[in-house]
Amino acid sequence: MKNISVIGGGTMGNGIAHVFAQSGYQVTLIDIKQEMLDKAVATITKNMDRLIAKEKLTETEKNDALSRLHTTTDLKSGVSNADLVVEAATENVTIKLQLFRDIDAAAPAHAILASNTSSISITKIASVTGRPEKVIGMHFMNPVPVMKLVEVIEGFKTDKSVTDTIFDLSRKLGKIPALTQDYPGFIANRILMPMINEAIISLHEGVAEVEEIDTIMKLGMAHPMGPLQLADFIGLDVCLAILNVLHDGLGNPKYAPCPLLVNMVTSGDLGVKSGRGFYDYSHGGKELVVAPNFHGRN
Ligand code: NAD
Repeated sequence: MKNISVIGGGTMGNGIAHVFAQSGYQVTLIDIKQEMLDKAVATITKNMDRLIAKEKLTETEKNDALSRLHTTTDLKSGVSNADLVVEAATENVTIKLQLFRDIDAAAPAHAILASNTSSISITKIASVTGRPEKVIGMHFMNPVPVMKLVEVIEGFKTDKSVTDTIFDLSRKLGKIPALTQDYPGFIANRILMPMINEAIISLHEGVAEVEEIDTIMKLGMAHPMGPLQLADFIGLDVCLAILNVLHDGLGNPKYAPCPLLVNMVTSGDLGVKSGRGFYDYSHGGKELVVAPNFHGRN
């Protein structure tokens, strides 16, 4: 395992490219947009500078890691010598299925094809390739350089030796892998998203205000941040997409997304990335200010 291709240079893709390059692998980061690749390299450089300031990385290690990082907008050449492809493109089933058809056609026969999807079926993704036994879920957490967990998802046809390889590799990145089977939301989001949804339902029903809900869960459960702040951080559109996958895939009304979440996403309040969700980030987000419509609404 030497050459890693990472697809998608967004929030997750840049973090995944960062940890592989820092751990000694040759990395090719691929995106359809050159601006996303430029932004990703700038983010990785900035995050490595932070590690230098904390004395967790040296200047030489940073330069070595960056010299192992290559970028391209051409998928075909970008995966042509990959031992492993980690797909971290937009969470959209049509995009992912087309990507896996194209990756399967262009990547070497021995390459393992992994997806960082939060909720889309690995078995479904594998079914459009000619190598379903080499397709697996490698679900990193955000922010990737900081978070220790890799949720490893076995599709219906994933070979045990592929799971073992991904477990090994995750440990080489300094991460801790945990195995789940391929059912909607896997484990992380099947448990996290209903909690976030319940927090939004509680707000919608007027049981408590934004700050109270987050304070109760943060201090009461020793969570590092409250569920509403976490939803803003993940992206409210991402939360809605995952809840829809749970609702459709498990067929249980308990997973139905709260109408308030649907309205917020429809109106463009997506959390940190749009500058406003349950909190207002338009002033840089240093200070948590509750978005105006969530005060005194009842
Ligand atoms: P993002 O929107 O930040 O980035 C997605 C990137 O994919 C964009 O740069 C886009 O240009 C690129 N892209 C779209 N179509 C492409 C294609 N055909 N080829 C190459 N690049 C393409 O999204 P993200 O938050 O980084 O999420 C990426 C994946 O990771 C999703 O599957 C998501 O569910 C999963 N994930 C996200 C989080 C999170 O907290 N954001 C956590 C874990 C997993």
